[in-house]
Amino acid sequence: MSKRDDRQLGMKRKITRRDFLNGMAVTAGAGATHALMPRDLFAADDADAEKAGGYYPPALTGLRGSHAGSFDAAHALRDGTFWDSVGKPIDTGESYDLIVVGGGISGLAAAHFYRKAAGAGARILILDNHDDFGGHAKRNEFRVGDRTLVGYGGTYSIESPAPYSAVAKGVIEELGIEVSSFPKYLDRDLYGSMRRVPKIFFDKETFSSDRLVDDPWPFPGGETYDLAVAGPDAWAHFMAEAPIAEQARKDVSRLCREKKDHLPGLSAEEQKARLERISYARFLTEVAGMHGDVIRLYQTVSQPLFGLGIEAISAADAAETGYPGFSGMGAEAEALSNERRYFFHFPDGNASIARMLVRKLIPDAIAGNSATDVVLAKADYAKLEASGSAVKMRLNSTAVRVKHVGDAAGAKEVEVAYARGGKVYMARAKGCVLACWHVVIPYICEELPEKQKDALASAQKVPLLYTNVAIRNWTAFQKLGANSIYAPGGYHTHVDMDLPVSIGGYECSRKPEEPMVVHMSKSPCRAGRPAREQHRLGRMELFNTTFETIERKIREQLARTLGAGGFDPARDIAAITVNRWPHGYAYEYSSLWDPFVLEGGETPCEVARKPYGRIAIANADAGAYAYTDCAIDQAWRAVGELGKS
Ligand SMILES: Cc1cc2nc3c(=O)[nH]c(=O)nc-3n(C[C@H](O)[C@H](O)[C@H](O)COP(=O)(O)OP(=O)(O)OC[C@H]3O[C@@H](n4cnc5c(N)ncnc54)[C@H](O)[C@@H]3O)c2cc1C
Repeated sequence: MSKRDDRQLGMKRKITRRDFLNGMAVTAGAGATHALMPRDLFAADDADAEKAGGYYPPALTGLRGSHAGSFDAAHALRDGTFWDSVGKPIDTGESYDLIVVGGGISGLAAAHFYRKAAGAGARILILDNHDDFGGHAKRNEFRVGDRTLVGYGGTYSIESPAPYSAVAKGVIEELGIEVSSFPKYLDRDLYGSMRRVPKIFFDKETFSSDRLVDDPWPFPGGETYDLAVAGPDAWAHFMAEAPIAEQARKDVSRLCREKKDHLPGLSAEEQKARLERISYARFLTEVAGMHGDVIRLYQTVSQPLFGLGIEAISAADAAETGYPGFSGMGAEAEALSNERRYFFHFPDGNASIARMLVRKLIPDAIAGNSATDVVLAKADYAKLEASGSAVKMRLNSTAVRVKHVGDAAGAKEVEVAYARGGKVYMARAKGCVLACWHVVIPYICEELPEKQKDALASAQKVPLLYTNVAIRNWTAFQKLGANSIYAPGGYHTHVDMDLPVSIGGYECSRKPEEPMVVHMSKSPCRAGRPAREQHRLGRMELFNTTFETIERKIREQLARTLGAGGFDPARDIAAITVNRWPHGYAYEYSSLWDPFVLEGGETPCEVARKPYGRIAIANADAGAYAYTDCAIDQAWRAVGELGKS
């Protein structure tokens, strides 16, 4: 396929509300009366940026997630330059019962738990460095024609490999989310009835020719996995068309379809011990005897769940996740359907949970009262700091110093300094929950013990790109019979059509002529290096890549993958939002990279999350587990440590 120029890709074309400057989104939502400029959002002197007309971050396109302007203060702290250029904090004179640093699910849940225990009059301030609340639980909105499309810029769904605790389930129930009712919102038969199936896109750089082939065995972890039922002819199509060695095709069939004990003669415990110590890639080649092309095919299949390729995840984790090769070994995971799992997907993912928590804390900010009406309810950001509200949310505000007033053991108050619009302010509280990323804490809370700071610093996150592309129609997907595409050699390795969920008046796209949000994900890995090194380099890559570069990659990839179905990126792409998460998933311990997993004993997150005086520590990092339930559980513990539960 010939390389397309910028004009053919539509790079110069005006797309819906796309107007950015190296990733800095500068236009506002559909209802905006004027275009918001960066200075409006992160204004040097404007203490009321969120009150500006049209301030509506979910509708911003371009580079979102950790957007420009959100990390400068934290990075300056890290580099030791922050205090050189700012003066003494301006004392706001404000005094709270609790200050929460971090407005993600953990911070919001902490405020919720505290308020329940201390009463509705409890005065709480929540600080977050982003222009929107929810942390990784991020809402993206698009307007295409007369239709509003909603997508998830981070957390996809309520689900967890481990059962939700009573505490986490309690919050979900309090918010009114009936998890078991999910099937009634999901159009489960839409894909099958339209003969759309999962596909693999083999690219010529990796596999010598560009080819779209039926995926006979979609791996768990893809977003539409539960609807990703392989087509009836998928094996025949794959065996005839996949551009890999014939032996590799036979091996894939053997791996996925045969029940075989690949480690005969070992007890279940011995097998587990072996699987914990080798990667899935090594298991496939050295234990299961797969051809090298099988590794090339499946190298990136684990990226959405682990942020790593199969050479860096353990075979034990692969077995637990339900990857093929373990049936007949007693290590196979039982695949649960949506109906049986604790699973719920809102169109904006768990941003709906964040929005419902905000609504509980600051009712005026989001109208409505049910778990369904929240889907279309528009947040009023000007109300996050309403004067009469006991709970306040201050966005665009990075906590830069948290310290006790006096000795931690005897202090009655904590002082929190935060950077906002080029100035530093200070407020006080009786207690503080740090629900922010753990790597930040050593820089903002210097009085913590050194051992604890080291443990906090080790919680380096997993980088990810979650891209939403609003397309004017999906006729190309329909013509090609595809609903999800695994692209082992693609810039984004996974392309998923929206999960067809209609809820609270929001209707999913049912006809190919209608617009839809296509979700694409990428993990910036460096295969072959240790996990943390891969994450570090990937994080740098994400910080250093411009929106323009990513946009070109998206347009090229979609043109090549869907071109045969008539997709024209210049014509069919209405808007692009790239959610950049250099600090994405909480780092989860692996038997391959973290020896203490096999040895037992206190883990770094247990050391990191110890309370200190009037400061308690939450966030999903505190459980080293990248799921919503962990963020809630850790908030519960932290609030309890402050004597409120
Ligand atoms: C792309 C992605 C997809 C995911 N998908 C799922 C899923 O499908 N299901 C699931 O259960 N989990 C999922 N997770 C994990 C889940 O989102 C998290 O476990 C959970 O939302 C974390 O919440 P949190 O509040 O602990 O952290 P965060 O959401 O990261 O919130 C912490 C907030 O603190 C802010 N902060 C940091 N430093 C400061 C500072 N100095 N001052 C002020 N604020 C600060 C951060 O910017 C952030 O906004 C996903 C995560 C990512 C990244």
